[in-house]
Amino acid sequence: MANEINNFQEIISHCKEYGYIFQSSELYDGLSAVYDYGQMGAQLKKNLRDEWWKSMTQMHENIVGIDAAIFMHPTVWKASGHVDNFSDPMIDNKDSNKRYRVDHLIEAFAETLEKSAADTLIAEMDKLLAADDLTGLKSLIEVNKIKCSISKTVNWTDVRQFNLMFSTQIGSVAEEADTIYLRPETAQGIFVNFLNVQKTGRMKIPFGIAQTGKAFRNEIVARQFIFRMREFEQMEMQFFVRPGTQMEWYNYWKDARKKWHESIGIPSDKLRFHDHIKLAHYADAALDIEFEFPFGWKELEGIHSRTDFDLNQHAKFSKKKIQYFDNDLNAEGKPYGNYTPFVVETSVGLDRLFLTVISLAYQVEKWTKEDGTEDSRVVLKIPAKIAPTKLAILPLLKKDGLPEIASALMNECKSQFHCFYEEKDAIGKRYRRMDAIGTPFCVTIDHQTKEDNTVTIRYRDTMLQERIPMSEVSKLVAKAC
Ligand code: ATP
Repeated sequence: MANEINNFQEIISHCKEYGYIFQSSELYDGLSAVYDYGQMGAQLKKNLRDEWWKSMTQMHENIVGIDAAIFMHPTVWKASGHVDNFSDPMIDNKDSNKRYRVDHLIEAFAETLEKSAADTLIAEMDKLLAADDLTGLKSLIEVNKIKCSISKTVNWTDVRQFNLMFSTQIGSVAEEADTIYLRPETAQGIFVNFLNVQKTGRMKIPFGIAQTGKAFRNEIVARQFIFRMREFEQMEMQFFVRPGTQMEWYNYWKDARKKWHESIGIPSDKLRFHDHIKLAHYADAALDIEFEFPFGWKELEGIHSRTDFDLNQHAKFSKKKIQYFDNDLNAEGKPYGNYTPFVVETSVGLDRLFLTVISLAYQVEKWTKEDGTEDSRVVLKIPAKIAPTKLAILPLLKKDGLPEIASALMNECKSQFHCFYEEKDAIGKRYRRMDAIGTPFCVTIDHQTKEDNTVTIRYRDTMLQERIPMSEVSKLVAKAC
């Protein structure tokens, strides 16, 4: 584990050094659990989002995409249950004033115990959490003498529920202002638009509505880099189905989503399903797709069968009818019917997906050269399909007409895929930089190019080089992407 954590620190530094991720407002010493994506990171994130969007809205004829606003009517969050229930039990240490999520505090302590004691403690905690027994949780912390990591004391406040939504005011004059929330999930934007989309798109059940966008949660224990952030991005799809068919679709999406992760290069053995034992009151089935992050198996995506809870809640709070008229039931010999559709949702965090891809891609390779000396490189083996830059075009020298040839190749390729042009430094150094950035192909233009129109292409993953006609470059790269 220690190695993995070191490796994780290296990944974080690498992301910063090569323009993938910066701490937000670093100039002012940063803002905790908020991050900015740099020039490489923004492109990788966009590529991942585009892949997801395509797989949902282009590859499924019955799924359409929307882009709902972050601000929503405050009653949305009453109806969804977030105002009353979207909270975590927290406890403060009176000496350090540090606030902890109770489950995280107990889990961290359990990691210091031997397995059977840890299992008993976690089982006890789960029971108390399930029963919302805040007094019981406090006494569990006290009985086990769990200390604050900063003050090292056991001087705790009572356990309290802490709502994770950020609120702000809308309206120009303070007296008229209404409290509204920054959305803690994108899903509600889909539920409140169910009728709009179904009617204007003439959608027939089963059908889905997909959306990507920012969500905000005032996470108390926000750590592990972009795994848990206060501002993050979700990619969610709500699939509306006939009541009674939800398990069939739940199983369909469970498999479809795992396969999708594999299609962007995540090995099957690094993914696993984790079924929820304790279900939210509105769900009749739920699971997480977990990935083995450098700090252990954690949730990457959630698949939830949410019944008709959300649409019913919005019907109740808005006092409008939110139902679907199913013509096909008649054709099947059943009476015509209006019903509230059931929902199966898939919800993946784009930032967690980014972290997944980067932690798989980051590799330090060491080898012995022919002359017996040691060599090494740091390489991001991001699959070509999602790599931010696909091709680096490198004139060997900044003279003899080589940059002109390279520019012509750049102009030929840049409308098809993202290219990078670089004239500076020795060629070996430029290759290493492209490895570190994760560019899958480099082509070098040299004097021979002027004679026979061939270039050297270098493959990032194998470091092999070969000569190919310059006219083949764009086809070869486009095919790999
Ligand atoms: P966790 O248990 O890790 O807090 P969750 O079960 O609350 O996650 P959901 O509400 O199901 O998460 O959200 C769907 C997805 O959104 C998660 O699978 C995760 O990928 C992502 N996500 C949720 N919270 C965060 C966060 N604070 N930072 C980054 N991604 C997040």
